Amino acid sequence: MATRLRRFEMHFVSGNSKRMQIKWRQQRYDESRKGFSILQREVFLKEDVEARLKLSRTQQLTDEQAKELRDWQKELETFDQKYWLHRRALYKLILEKPKGPWVRKWDACSRREAVLSQKQRMLCAARGGCCERECGCCERPLKTHRANIKYGHCTMECGCCIRNRGFYKPEFERLGTGQKREYNQALTWRLRY
Ligand SMILES: [Zn+2]
Ligand SMILES: [Zn+2]
Ligand SMILES: [Zn+2]
Repeated sequence: MATRLRRFEMHFVSGNSKRMQIKWRQQRYDESRKGFSILQREVFLKEDVEARLKLSRTQQLTDEQAKELRDWQKELETFDQKYWLHRRALYKLILEKPKGPWVRKWDACSRREAVLSQKQRMLCAARGGCCERECGCCERPLKTHRANIKYGHCTMECGCCIRNRGFYKPEFERLGTGQKREYNQALTWRLRY
């Protein structure tokens, strides 16, 4: 019934209102993915720092290992600000939320059950995310001390994915045009500042 009503309404809203709703939906989606990629990156770095510190207790770190550790620790210090800025942008979008059938459709799709739906899992697998494997990361809440978003599908910053694919991001310069297009979608979820 709700879906039928929405379809009916979609015929009658003005082009301008439709554009506003679709634009808002895209911005809201991008901001959420950005937030999730910030959290995934932070979790990944914390795990690496912990492992490196553990190693340093049993053996002398090489110069390169020590430098990496310092870089990770330095990057970790930036996350309070990054996350704070993301929350401000997100709240601004929430306050500016337009009303209408396209936005209501978004609300329906962002519920937890919808996030873990078969379709979303397939999309995650298609991007090379954890849903392609048996690890079950997407079904578990993210181990973060920060509140709010705990569930989501992999971004390019997912530590489990990085460890599995064996590299951080594809080297674009070396790819052909066709491959570039294929990777483009996956790269959309890479952390950008
Ligand atoms: Zn995983
Ligand atoms: Zn993953
Ligand atoms: Zn997933």
